[in-house]
Amino acid sequence: MLHLLCVPAGCSASDDFFAKALQQENGRSMLVTSSTVLVQKARRQGVNAVNFDYLANAVLRRCGRLHVRRISRKAQELIVGNILQALQEQGRLPYFEKLIAKKGFLRSVTSLMDQLGSCGVTPDEIADAFAHWDGRSGSYRQKDRESAELYREYIRYLIAHDVYDVAGMYRLAAEKLETLIQAEGALQWDTLFFMGFYQFDAWQLSIIRSLSRLCDVWIALPYEAVRPELYGATEFTYGDLMRQAVLEQVTLPAGPQRKPSLQHLVSTLRAPEIKPVPADSAIEIWQTEDRQEEMRAVLRDIKKLLHGQTVKADEVAVVVRRMEDYSGLRALCDEYGIPAQLRGSATLAANPVFRCIVTLLSSVSLHGREQADAWSDLLAQPLQRIALGLPTQIATEIANAHYYTDCKTFVTEALQKTGCTPLQDLWQTFTELKPEATVEEYCEKILGILSVAELKVKAGQLYKEGQITLTGFKNIACAHDALTLLLQSLPQDYLAGGCGNKKLSCALFTEALTEKAEGISLNLQPENQEGITVLSAVNLEEAAFRQVYVLGLREHEFPLFKHENWLYSDRERADLTALGIGLPSSADGYREDIRFFANACAAASERLVLTFFTDDEQGASPYIAEVQSLFTDLKIQVKKPEREIADSLSIRELELALAREGQADFLRQLAEGITEAGGSDRKRLTNETGWNGNLGDPELLRQVERQIGDRFSASKLETYRGCPFRFLVSYVWQQQPAEEVEEDMDPVRRGSLLHKVLEKFISNHLGEPLQTSRQEELQAELDRLFSETWHEFAEQGQLYAGDFWQHDKEQQRLLLQQWLHKEIAYSEAGSLRPAYTEMEFGRGSTNLMPLEINGRRIFLNGKIDRIDRAGNSFYITDYKSSQAPKKADFLDTNLQLPLYILAADRLVAAKEGGTVTGGGYYVLKDGERKESFLFVNAQDGKPPWQTYSEMQDEDGNKIPVTDITVLQEKTEQVLADTLRCMGQGGFRPTHTDKCDAYCPAAKICRYRILQPDPGGEERHE
Ligand code: SF4
Repeated sequence: MLHLLCVPAGCSASDDFFAKALQQENGRSMLVTSSTVLVQKARRQGVNAVNFDYLANAVLRRCGRLHVRRISRKAQELIVGNILQALQEQGRLPYFEKLIAKKGFLRSVTSLMDQLGSCGVTPDEIADAFAHWDGRSGSYRQKDRESAELYREYIRYLIAHDVYDVAGMYRLAAEKLETLIQAEGALQWDTLFFMGFYQFDAWQLSIIRSLSRLCDVWIALPYEAVRPELYGATEFTYGDLMRQAVLEQVTLPAGPQRKPSLQHLVSTLRAPEIKPVPADSAIEIWQTEDRQEEMRAVLRDIKKLLHGQTVKADEVAVVVRRMEDYSGLRALCDEYGIPAQLRGSATLAANPVFRCIVTLLSSVSLHGREQADAWSDLLAQPLQRIALGLPTQIATEIANAHYYTDCKTFVTEALQKTGCTPLQDLWQTFTELKPEATVEEYCEKILGILSVAELKVKAGQLYKEGQITLTGFKNIACAHDALTLLLQSLPQDYLAGGCGNKKLSCALFTEALTEKAEGISLNLQPENQEGITVLSAVNLEEAAFRQVYVLGLREHEFPLFKHENWLYSDRERADLTALGIGLPSSADGYREDIRFFANACAAASERLVLTFFTDDEQGASPYIAEVQSLFTDLKIQVKKPEREIADSLSIRELELALAREGQADFLRQLAEGITEAGGSDRKRLTNETGWNGNLGDPELLRQVERQIGDRFSASKLETYRGCPFRFLVSYVWQQQPAEEVEEDMDPVRRGSLLHKVLEKFISNHLGEPLQTSRQEELQAELDRLFSETWHEFAEQGQLYAGDFWQHDKEQQRLLLQQWLHKEIAYSEAGSLRPAYTEMEFGRGSTNLMPLEINGRRIFLNGKIDRIDRAGNSFYITDYKSSQAPKKADFLDTNLQLPLYILAADRLVAAKEGGTVTGGGYYVLKDGERKESFLFVNAQDGKPPWQTYSEMQDEDGNKIPVTDITVLQEKTEQVLADTLRCMGQGGFRPTHTDKCDAYCPAAKICRYRILQPDPGGEERHE
C-alpha cells in the first residue's frame, strides 16, 4: 500500500517514521532518503537507512540480478561521442554536423540522453512524440529526427553491451519488480519509508508504485496545497503519487520551537495574500561592501556569540548556495579561531601530486626549449624533494644558469650535478611514453611511476620525523590513493564506452584525466565535530540550528541562474512536456532554489541572518524583497568594516587597525617586522608622498619622466589610464606581464599569426570587391596562405607542432573561414574596399606623428591593421582576437581608435585629398565587426555595419563627435590630462575589471589595503 504524508514547511516526519520503523522486526523495514545527513541521523537511532541507488541494487539482487554493470558519466560521453562520429560519417546528422566540434556539445547531448532516459520513454515513443509535434520548421524537424536517432543508437548500444546508466538501472529494477509481482513473489521488507525527497523521476515513481504492491510504502513529501509557488518542484511528483496513494492525515510536530518572526516567515513564504506583521529581533538582513566583508561580518558576529557563551558552536550554521563561491571561509574561520565543521576539500586536479603528473604528460608533445622549460618546472616542484629525493633548488639553479634548447641536455646536467638515481628512472619512463597510446597503456605507465615513487611511504616517514605536518601527509596520501583509483577506473570507462583499443594523443589523454580529476574531491582535514556547520543550502532537509546565517543572497547566485539548454530551449521543452516527454527546463532550477531557501529559513529556531552585497553586475536576491514584504518594518542593516583597535577580533584585524592608527609600539609587541609593514600601510592609507605610487621627489620625477620618454603608443597611454601603478611597473620599472601558462599556442602568437595571414590576403585584393561567386576560390587562397604562414612561424620557432597546436590550428582555420564569409557579405553590402594593410607610423623616421600637448611635443606610434576606402572616404579597422573595447571607453581607456583615426587622417587621407569617416574593430572570435565609430557628419562611404558616434564624459553624458576637428580637440584634452598626472607623479593603483593575475604589479600592488574610509570617495573594488 502507498501512504503519502504531506509535510508542511518547518515540520518534520522523521520522528514519526523512525518510531514506525523501530516498531518493525529487525531488517523488515528500511528508510530510503536523499541526504547523507538523514542517513546518519537515522542510523544513530538504530534505523536502517540507505539511498535510492542502494534500494534499486537491493531490488535487483532480490530478483536474481546479482551483477549489473553500471557505467560512469565518462563512459556515457564516450559512447555518445562514438555514436555521433559514426552517424556523422554516414551523413546522418546534417543538422548537428555544424555543432559537433563545439565545446560542450558532447556533454549537452549526453545530458539529453540522461534526461530522455529519466522520462521513462522508449526510443519509439520519442520518435512518435517528435513526429506529432505541430508547428515545427523543416530544420527543427531535422533536429528532432537526429535527436531521436541518437537516443535510439544510445539505447541500442547499452542493450547490446549489457551495460546500464542510472536510468537504465532504475528501469531494470522496475521491470524486475513487475516480474516479481506477476510471479507473486515477496520482498525482504514489510515497510519502506521514503523521506528527504521533493521529487522523483519517472522510473523512481514506477519503482515506488511496484514496491507498494509488495509491501507498505510511506512517503513524506514536502507539500502544501495552499502554497503552490513554494512547491513548484514537487507538484508533478505529488500529482503522480496521488493517483494511487492514500493521503495520511498525521499531525506532525512543528520542528523546533521558533521565535514568532521566524515562524511567520516559515509559514507564510510564498503564500497568497499575506498581511505583513512587525518583525522581532529574530530576523536580520545585512548588506556589506563585498564578499570578503560579508564573510568577515558573519564570522565576527559568530565569534562574539561564542565568546559570550550565548550559543555553542554546533548550534550555529553558515549556509551558502554554492560552496565554491565561498572558498575563503575555511581560512577566515581559522583567522578568527572559530572551529568549523567544514571539510577542507579540494579537487584532485589542483593537488601537487596530480599537477606533477600533468606537467610530465604535457611535456611529451613538446620539443626543444619548450620541453626543457616544462621539465625545469617539473623538477622545481617542491614535491620532487619527496618523490625523487631531488634538491629542487639545485635543479632550478641549473635551469637558470643556461638557456637549454634541448631537454635531454638539461636532465643530463641535473643528473650529473645531483646524482639523483630516481630522476634517471623517471627520465627513462618518460622516453617510453608514446605520443599516441591507448588509455590503458598510459594509465599503466603512470601507475608504474607512482609505484616506484613510493610517495605514501616516503611522506609517512617524513611525518614521523616531524618534517611535514599531518595535513601535509594527508594531502599527499589522499591524492596518491585517489589518483591510483582514477588510473584504475579510467580504462574501464573507455572499455565500457567502446574505446578500449582507441589510441589517443598524450594531450587528449591528459585532458580526459584532468577532466575526471576535477570531479574528485579530496578530504584533507578531519571533520571537526564540535565547530559551527558550514554547508550548502541544497543539503538542508530537516536541519535545525539555533542561529543560521544565509550568505550570498544575490541575483543569479541564490536563486542560482541556469542557462537555457542549447539543444532544446525552455519553450521547446514546454511543448515536449505537453507531448508526454517531461524534460527539465531552466525554470525548474528556480523552483528548486526556493525550496532550498525555505529549508534554510526553516532551519533557524532563534535567529536568522540573511546577508548580501551588490556590485555593478548583480544586485540583491529577489528573496530579500520577498522576506521584507512579509514584515512591516524589516530594514536592511548596512554593515561597515570595523576599523577601531578595540573592535579587532583577529590578529590580522588588530594589525591593520594598529597600522592605521600608527601605533608602532603595540605593533612591535605583536610581532617583529609587522611595524614597518603597518607603518607603510598607514602611509598608503593617508596617501603620503613616496608611498603607493604617489611620487614626490623632484629628482625621481625627472628620472621617471626621462624613462617614460616622448614616444607613446596607444597601449602605453591606455595602460596609464587603466591603472597608473601598472603603467609605472610596466613602462618605468620595465617589468614584463606575467604570462599565462598555455599548453597550446599563446594568444599573442596566435594573434600575430592571424594578423599576418589577413595582411597577406588583403594585400592580394586591394581595391577589389569580394563576391560570393568567388567564395570557393578565395577560401582556397586563404587556406593556402594560412598553411604557408604557419610553416614560416614554425621555422622561426614561434610555434611548436605539438598535439594541442593541431587542434588549435583547426580552430584558427575555422576563424579565418568565418572571417572570409563575413568579409564577402560586408563587401557586397557596401562600397568600402581595402586600400592599405599594416600601415605603420611613428617608428623610425618615416610617417612621424608628432602632437603638441601643452607646449610639449610627443610622438605617437602604432600600426593600423587596415584602411578601407570608398571614393574619398577612408575607414580604419583593427583586428581583435576575442574582444573589442566598449564604446563607453572611447576617448577614455580606449585611445587606440581615436589615435589611429587621427594618424590615418594626417598620413593617408590628407595626402590623398580625402577624409577619414571613422574606424572600428573586427572581432575574429565572433566573426563580425563590433564597436565601430563613425563621425556624426560623415557623408560618403558609410559602412554597412552598426556604428556609434559619441563619447561619454565623466558623468556619463553622451557627447556627439561630429568631425575630425572635434576628435582632435578631445583627444588632445585627454592626452594633456594624462601627461599632467604623470608629470605630477600620480601612479596610484586603480583597481578595475582589467586588474588581473597577469598584471606585472599584481604581487606587490597593495590596492586591497586601500579600503575606502566609511563615507570616503575612493573605492577600489
Ligand atoms: S593589480 Fe590591479 S590595481 Fe594593482 S597595479 Fe595591477 S591593475 Fe593596478
